[in-house]
Amino acid sequence: MDRGDLFIISAPSGAGKSTLCSMLVKELDNIVFSVSHTTRPPRPGEVDGKDYFFVSEAEFQRLVAEDAFLEWARVHGNFYGTHRGQVMDKLAKGLDVILDIDTQGAKQVKEKLPGAVTIFILPPSWQELKRRLVARGSEDREKIKLRLKNALLEMEEVPNYHYTIVNDQLQVAFEELKSIIIAERNKTRRVIGGKIDLAALKPDPEEWDSI
Ligand code: ADP
Ligand code: 5GP
Repeated sequence: MDRGDLFIISAPSGAGKSTLCSMLVKELDNIVFSVSHTTRPPRPGEVDGKDYFFVSEAEFQRLVAEDAFLEWARVHGNFYGTHRGQVMDKLAKGLDVILDIDTQGAKQVKEKLPGAVTIFILPPSWQELKRRLVARGSEDREKIKLRLKNALLEMEEVPNYHYTIVNDQLQVAFEELKSIIIAERNKTRRVIGGKIDLAALKPDPEEWDSI
């Protein structure tokens, strides 16, 4: 069976990557979201095991010591990490996997898995990024300030990503994101030996006579 592809999606907080990722896994088959571990407290409505595995700092450090993470980083004052086993199992099963991770984590994964496809989501403007973060209402003023400050650093990494999407109109950004996944799935390497066997496209010798 062909291995799946790994898609890394990064964006400043509030740019809309969680919204876009959840639209993607709803619409496309054979693509799954990697559920990260975090020490951040859950937001109202977030479900343990679906949005994140919410763990204590001690549990997170235990997993770090066990080398359980493909990558991990401290982001906006909390720890976040991608469980290696979870991701590798899914890729081996032929599923495409999306990692919604920050730019520090993206660098670590690219070193280990250079075939990963990287996508950066940008907001249409600074004012709109701020508006979305405030409107989401999930962080207090100080935390919003920290996330906006970090947004400036994260956006410096855009040139290192394969693709960039500006999330202005949600539906347009979604179509652009979907088209990247579909294009990657049609790379010759994945099609030949994956969904089609070139040898099977050749006729049997006796078939020539019937043409
Ligand atoms: P992130 O995961 O990047 O932090 P979210 O997906 O949580 O961002 O989006 C931040 C807020 O902006 C949410 O309230 C979401 O509903 C809203 N949002 C996302 N994309 C758009 C868009 N294109 N136009 C307007 N609001 C958006
Ligand atoms: P949030 O707290 O808004 O859910 O996420 C904050 C930031 O942490 C986002 O930039 C998100 O991409 C990043 N993040 C989420 N999971 C991981 C992870 O497993 N590893 C890393 N490095 N960053 C993550």
